[in-house]
Amino acid sequence: MTDADTSPADRDSAPNPDEVALPKCFADDLLAWYRVQRRDLPWRAGYDPYAVWVSEIMLQQTQVATVIPYFERFLARFPTLADLATAPEEELMRHWAGLGYYTRARNLQRGAKEVLERFQGRVPSRVEELLTLPGVGRYTAGAIASIAHNVSAPILDGNVMRVLCRVFALSGDPRRNPLNRRLWALAEAMIPERHARDFNSALMELGAMVCAPKSPRCGSCPVSRHCQAFREGAQSRYPQLVARPASTEEHRVCAVAVREDGRVLLIQPTEAGRWAGLWQIPHAALAPETPGADRLADLLAEYGLSASAFCPVITVRHGITRYRITLQAYECRVTGEVATDLPTRWASGEELAELPLPAPHRRVAAAWLSGVRPDHADGRQLALPITVEEGR
Ligand code: SF4
Repeated sequence: MTDADTSPADRDSAPNPDEVALPKCFADDLLAWYRVQRRDLPWRAGYDPYAVWVSEIMLQQTQVATVIPYFERFLARFPTLADLATAPEEELMRHWAGLGYYTRARNLQRGAKEVLERFQGRVPSRVEELLTLPGVGRYTAGAIASIAHNVSAPILDGNVMRVLCRVFALSGDPRRNPLNRRLWALAEAMIPERHARDFNSALMELGAMVCAPKSPRCGSCPVSRHCQAFREGAQSRYPQLVARPASTEEHRVCAVAVREDGRVLLIQPTEAGRWAGLWQIPHAALAPETPGADRLADLLAEYGLSASAFCPVITVRHGITRYRITLQAYECRVTGEVATDLPTRWASGEELAELPLPAPHRRVAAAWLSGVRPDHADGRQLALPITVEEGR
């Protein structure tokens, strides 16, 4: 491609010749370290493209240590693309419950169906084809192409951005252009021939294990002799991430509605929404500083029920994308016939523990099932609920 073929934006973001001319020994140093130090992760066993795809989707927004047991259970239950494509949605959600971001699971299943229909069951190796699958963006396409198929495709996640910004001492926010375009171009130009899988994995591993955001372990870094930030003692200056907007506080109340036989009401909102398609404990928005108990009667009335007694169970704090949710949960002894257009079920204790519920609702269910709560026999609102901090 000549300069005449490039837009001003492309020229602005192209790596400069010094960057591209980074000595081959950078890749050699990095790969030598990776071959010795790499973590033994389950999706690295055999690099089955389907398994790599599942792992990359699970790893979006979720840490490696959290993903490992989910990945192993998921692959044990859905060992092939066909198993995933034909799985009942409730079964799929049961194996995803707790990972959050449930759209990922639905997209993965839709993608599996498309691979069966359009690609004869083989996960594509070309980035352009991978990008046509639901839930697969540029990073995920590059990761599947390079890690599963060893195709020379770049990847750029938070770890790789941090390493590249420090090695080349690059100013600007790496998530924004023009630096973002430049980093993609660099990540592509640096891949050594025939080593895309290990090189990309090694860059991510370096970011995760050595080039940490706050305290990079430069003394143990295999590429420190190539790192400009290290030479200048300026590691903390990179990357120059612009702070994201503050998170939004959201207050909600939920009613663990228990009928006479001890079963608990669950609802399944079907329209698009945060947890559409999952079984949920009835819940509603709450004005800040409002005791959840004030909203319970109205909430239960929406389902045709009335409460004869209630007591606090737990308060769960939960983060989803930019929202910080505070969910107050109350046990409510209810009477009446359920009246709603939504799918509902009265779950036994065993079912409540097994069904795919959103993470904060699972936490509420676990607290309620544990039975550790004040006596509610006289129907008064009792002491403030227990508070639990949830990470995800
Ligand atoms: Fe990161 Fe330090 Fe290695 Fe540079 S030398 S890449 S700052 S760990």
